[in-house]
Amino acid sequence: MRKHNFSAGPCILPQEVFKKASEAVLNFNNSNLSILEMSHRSKDIVAVMENARSLVKEVLNLPSKYEVLFLQGGASLGFYMSALNFLEKKGAYINTGTWSTKAIKEAKKVGDVNVVASSEDKKFTYIPKNIEAGDADFLHFTSNNTIYGTQFKSEPNTSLPLICDMSSDIFSKPINNIEKYALIYAGAQKNLGPAGTTLYIVDPEKLGMTKRDIPSMLNLQVHISKDSMFNTPPVYPIYVSMLTLEWLKENGGVEKAKQRNTAKAELLYNEIDRNNLFYGFVNKEDRSHMNATFGLHNADLKQIFLDKCEAAGINGIKGHRSVGGFRASMYNALPLESVQVLVDVMKNLDN
Ligand SMILES: *Cc1c(COP(=O)(O)O)cnc(C)c1O
Repeated sequence: MRKHNFSAGPCILPQEVFKKASEAVLNFNNSNLSILEMSHRSKDIVAVMENARSLVKEVLNLPSKYEVLFLQGGASLGFYMSALNFLEKKGAYINTGTWSTKAIKEAKKVGDVNVVASSEDKKFTYIPKNIEAGDADFLHFTSNNTIYGTQFKSEPNTSLPLICDMSSDIFSKPINNIEKYALIYAGAQKNLGPAGTTLYIVDPEKLGMTKRDIPSMLNLQVHISKDSMFNTPPVYPIYVSMLTLEWLKENGGVEKAKQRNTAKAELLYNEIDRNNLFYGFVNKEDRSHMNATFGLHNADLKQIFLDKCEAAGINGIKGHRSVGGFRASMYNALPLESVQVLVDVMKNLDN
């Protein structure tokens, strides 16, 4: 039987994506070749790249000025690359947890960084409001804090161009006010595909402000000019991402994904609030719809709960080592039924 996979990343993808992806390893498009042995310059693979890029534009309804790239290095290289390509005089940053802290650390290697808001004072359990970003080239934020379980419900209010690490909630809902973004980057392995490729959505009009000599592999302009094929791209992760985007499109796009994700989050948070054994870790209004973090008041029940989860076929529910407790990641491909199984285990814990 399939597990109920609440893993934070790499994470669950749709079953039909796994099936199609496995078929392509043996015989891709009836070519009698594996997708793993084909030239990235071949017609079929160029078509995969172009289809994946255009599906991103279509699913997110991106204005035509945006360029879509599938690169490597993970969001962790995105921390540095975003600063390298956009930081001319100063970058404004919001610190909402582990990943933002890392983004700030990398940006400091590039230039001046101003941390304009932080929730570190309360162990990153809330999203700072009413941010005054001041004078800067851009405002950087992390839309969903995968580890702490908080999420921006709308983008920060600022006139500065936005740069966002959307690794763990991209494609989970529509992006409002998309034209405010100079750059969005996201590691694929949370809602899009397997590990190995990183999505960049770039406004090219905002590039070229820094005068620095950027290494070619880290230069977004170079990748744009080569249609995301400057060097051998990670063909297979891009192909699987393409399949996931096709699945998302066939299932009502990001609007319907938002409805499904809201229903799942409400089901789980309602039980956390109803059940006296459990409590949520973060400010209610800032709760993430992707990663719910929660704990048990009675530490003696922890192992019992984990054992019951395992017996029910639940995977990946243990909290991040830096936060403790439990974390239920409910990405796009996780069905509502899996959340119901988890809620039933929570309900029956005191029997
Ligand atoms: C997982 C994650 C990262 C790290 O991504 P890598 O692709 O492993 O570098 C960065 N930011 C956020 C918000 C994440 O969830």
